Amino acid sequence: MRIDLHAHSNVSDGTETPAGVMESAAEAGLDAVALTDHDSTDGWAQAAAAARAKGVAFVPGMEISCRTELGISVHLLSYLHDPAHPGLLEEINKSRDARLTRAERMVTLLSEDYPLTWDDVIHHVAPGATVGRPHIADALVAAGVVADRSEAFASILTSHSRYFVQHYAPDPAIAVELVRAAGGVPVFAHPVAASRGRIVGEQTYREMIDAGLLGLEIDHRDNPEEGRAFLRRLAARHDLLITGSSDYHGTGKPNLLGENVTDPGVLARIEELATGCTVVR
Ligand code: AMP
Ligand code: FE
Ligand code: FE
Ligand code: ZN
Repeated sequence: MRIDLHAHSNVSDGTETPAGVMESAAEAGLDAVALTDHDSTDGWAQAAAAARAKGVAFVPGMEISCRTELGISVHLLSYLHDPAHPGLLEEINKSRDARLTRAERMVTLLSEDYPLTWDDVIHHVAPGATVGRPHIADALVAAGVVADRSEAFASILTSHSRYFVQHYAPDPAIAVELVRAAGGVPVFAHPVAASRGRIVGEQTYREMIDAGLLGLEIDHRDNPEEGRAFLRRLAARHDLLITGSSDYHGTGKPNLLGENVTDPGVLARIEELATGCTVVR
């Protein structure tokens, strides 16, 4: 059994449709795949239908943007939550609205130095999708400013860049509570990915665990080995589930479906713990 629990479609910053991600998962030889778009579950219905047609098990998921009081970005994966839970919906809608305003502000700043307009960016965003820096990167690629998204993130779009603007995002412990309230299984995404920016300290882990965190995404290409050893000790101490996943974004990132996988026993445990919805088989 090959199970990948982290993939994005063009409902956020992936480059394939939700159905396209399911087709790619079947081609990659996966038995089960989760769709975890940023702050959105809009791709679930299309993914479920395509996964059934391809004989791949579909795990409904989402990746919630969060930020600690120290301003550190945290991504929280949620599996099998109720997509209509009012409290959780309110938070992700707030984040998505804030992401739009923030992207517009970043484009205003960028347009002072680069040939870039808001229309150029919107051109790369599917209708209703969660807007992120990757879409700004796509417009910069189209304008010939950078070669690809990775180059954009290594330079113009880093969180240290003078063009970077933050957006509203809930505190990670609050997000964990909301996921649990919605019957979902919260898993801390790529927790020690220092290449993406500052990483959280012990207090944030403690708050998230106290709030009901159930798992850690340890096998992810952005987690360095020494950080993984720390995470394994933490998982053992607090009886947390361990997942491994690709964080596939289509052609938007080098990450390949199935490059990391999750143990079938862990998916079985996620299904036992969740009450919000079920895996589509
Ligand atoms: P944002 O959420 O708008 O701040 O942008 C962060 C998103 O950009 C993350 O969710 C990643 O999916 C994506 N990202 C980060 N680094 C890279 C990279 N080097 N290449 C492509 N996409 C990236
Ligand atoms: Fe992303
Ligand atoms: Fe992430
Ligand atoms: Zn992701």
